[in-house]
Amino acid sequence: MKSIKIHNTNQEFTIGKIVCVGRNYAEHASELGNEVPDKPVVFLKTVSSVIYSGGTIIYPSYSNDMHHETELVLLIGESLKNADIITAERSIIAYGIGLDMTLRDVQSELKKKGHPWTIAKCFDTSTVLSDFLYKFEHPLNLDEFILLKINNEVRQKDQLNKMLFKPAEIVQYISSLMTLEKGDLIFTGTPKGVGKVVSGDKLEAVLDDILKLECIVR
Ligand code: ZN
Repeated sequence: MKSIKIHNTNQEFTIGKIVCVGRNYAEHASELGNEVPDKPVVFLKTVSSVIYSGGTIIYPSYSNDMHHETELVLLIGESLKNADIITAERSIIAYGIGLDMTLRDVQSELKKKGHPWTIAKCFDTSTVLSDFLYKFEHPLNLDEFILLKINNEVRQKDQLNKMLFKPAEIVQYISSLMTLEKGDLIFTGTPKGVGKVVSGDKLEAVLDDILKLECIVR
């Protein structure tokens, strides 16, 4: 079992499922040659792949092209199904930054064959999480920038309001497909600027100076 503690509270959540949205920033969809979707693209990651800020991402032997995807992550605080937009908004109890590390070479092969992306997305250490902020204390401001530096150089930087589907819309949509439960995490998609990491890289993700995540690649 892995858990999330919400900063400045004594609330702790066991992580349930990890639901991810793909292609949620138009410029990221086009940089990988994908169409902008009319509904969010949804896939899952495993809890066993989770590490925390300060940890080490381990390159699997079967890939030479691991990419960073820096994302806003939502923590669900209550069970919901077929939610309306107000319930969806209320169910988001906290937010953090995450890295959805992706084996792009493996994923490209899977896409060609029409296979699921699981093995490109669920390898051990592929999901990195920051601390989480309590939304009712630190409201999420979509004018904020999320950014990723590698070895101190900015590689991804974008405003959260460039998301095609906003947090409550994503939660509402996912809740129409599957029940969301307390402790579930939602990765909201990555902005433009994804790229390869190599062994020895130091990654630092920041959301408007409040939230920070650091890790290294081995
Ligand atoms: Zn992603």
